[in-house]
Amino acid sequence: MMIRHARTIESIHAARPASDGAGVKLWRNIAPELQQRLDPFLLLDAFGSDDPDSYIAGFPDHPHRGFETVTYMLEGKMRHKDSAGNEGLLESGSIQWMRAGRGVIHSEMPEQEHGLMQGFQLWINLHSSEKLSDPAYEEIAPDGIPSHTDSSGAHMKIIAGEVDGVRGPIGERRTKPLYLDLRLEPHAEFSQAIPVEHNALAYVFEGSLIDGSRGEIGAHQLIVFGTREGHDGVAVSSGGTGARLLLLAGQPLNEPIAQWGPFVMNTRQEIEQAIAAYRDGSLTR
Ligand code: FE
Repeated sequence: MMIRHARTIESIHAARPASDGAGVKLWRNIAPELQQRLDPFLLLDAFGSDDPDSYIAGFPDHPHRGFETVTYMLEGKMRHKDSAGNEGLLESGSIQWMRAGRGVIHSEMPEQEHGLMQGFQLWINLHSSEKLSDPAYEEIAPDGIPSHTDSSGAHMKIIAGEVDGVRGPIGERRTKPLYLDLRLEPHAEFSQAIPVEHNALAYVFEGSLIDGSRGEIGAHQLIVFGTREGHDGVAVSSGGTGARLLLLAGQPLNEPIAQWGPFVMNTRQEIEQAIAAYRDGSLTR
């Protein structure tokens, strides 16, 4: 795709090893201090291991309120069950897009005892007017996610947004998310138009990118792209072993962010209300 001026890289952040749920080991990519800068994206976790000890305990029942979660399985099987009555088995290459809205309690448990489990979970914030909406759940099978190769030879899966007229399966959202899983051959280039006011980031998970001023950017690095008038897109180049990366962009909500663990609201008071609702059982009613 043709762009006139590529955004420059504003900052690069090494992913932090973390553990969540019942002790699942993962790489955490969006620290709290980056949430406002990457608005509407709140969190990006990458998990990837062939050691069952690091994932088998899964994510037993836990609540969410106020945002959307997007789980993308590259490899492995995970079963989801929630308080809204939804249940599904996420398999390799599938997507689950859940709106927690005013509240869900769910579990996300591996349905495998060995082998590789690899994927991502992204949290996308909801506008204040949607934070207490009804929960919603969409599951997209691998063949529902379009694969596309552009004129420069970049391979991609389009999870949300549009490239060369090919649209991802996720419907209209106020945050207009773009979510691409990109695979670049060695020494290849890819560019994508992104509205100037949208925030954009990339997460390299295999191989490396090469940037004119930053040099080589290897795996487990999060790239924040600058937003400057007239810079109408993002351009990336891969290193000698190619690259696999996620490219994400979205329209910021420009609202205050108040987070306490699995609840993301606009004020402390709304967080207190969410905690109280979870305690008295009304979160999911
Ligand atoms: Fe969850």
